[in-house]
Amino acid sequence: MGETLLELRELSKYYTSGQGVVKGVDQITLLFQAGEFVAITGESGSGKSTLAHVMGGILSYESGELYYRGRPTSHFDGGDWERYRRDCVSFISQDYGILPGSTVLANVVSALRLTGMDRAGAAVRAEEILRQVELWELRGRRAAKLSSGQKQRLAIARALAKPAPILIADEPTGNLDGENSAKVIQLLSQAAQDRLVILITHEFDEAKDFVTRHIALHDGRVTLDAKLQKPNQPQS
Ligand code: ADP
Ligand code: MG
Repeated sequence: MGETLLELRELSKYYTSGQGVVKGVDQITLLFQAGEFVAITGESGSGKSTLAHVMGGILSYESGELYYRGRPTSHFDGGDWERYRRDCVSFISQDYGILPGSTVLANVVSALRLTGMDRAGAAVRAEEILRQVELWELRGRRAAKLSSGQKQRLAIARALAKPAPILIADEPTGNLDGENSAKVIQLLSQAAQDRLVILITHEFDEAKDFVTRHIALHDGRVTLDAKLQKPNQPQS
């Protein structure tokens, strides 16, 4: 197993609204290592997105602790969280987070340039990544014109462009048919060769042959944490 990247210790997140306090996640204790490909499942409202956004540094948490590489985050200020989101995590949301008015190629190049890569290096790496996600042929197309499956693969391409050690995808297959879902999961599985990949899904079946671990949530709590056998990965 790889290095421990994330550790949650009795972490809770509550939402306060006019109606009172709603439990998002409740006393979650979990440890995640590089090389894991983790499926997190649970019915709607069980806390999957809350957990994903807390681990992604997008949502704050109220109690407990989130450690990144052994370092507590509860005292992080705004700048620390900004750096965490920029350098440590790639987050893929169901609404893709792509630049709709830009071409496929420009979407990936801009993600690479944000990491500080020079123009020439970004051009080379963008081609590699776009071939990997099978969008190289569509590199000149505007992102808005892509199908749902292609948009989600472009979102993955942008995430892969970032050398962050953690990739979190919140229901990336929620809008996709079986064939496109399978492609997305295979790409995430490849990404897990050298990082921690966390996949939120309510379709465990589509991921079960690829993931190395299955965590289930119910009512904000962990009800299952099963290490699965690591499947053989075809060499690419
Ligand atoms: P899931 O992704 O599994 O559907 P969520 O993490 O979105 O679950 O939601 C967990 C719980 O937190 C639910 O009860 C939901 O209604 C509540 N919740 C989520 N987001 C908010 C919010 N912004 N304000 C208030 N309650 C929220
Ligand atoms: Mg959700």
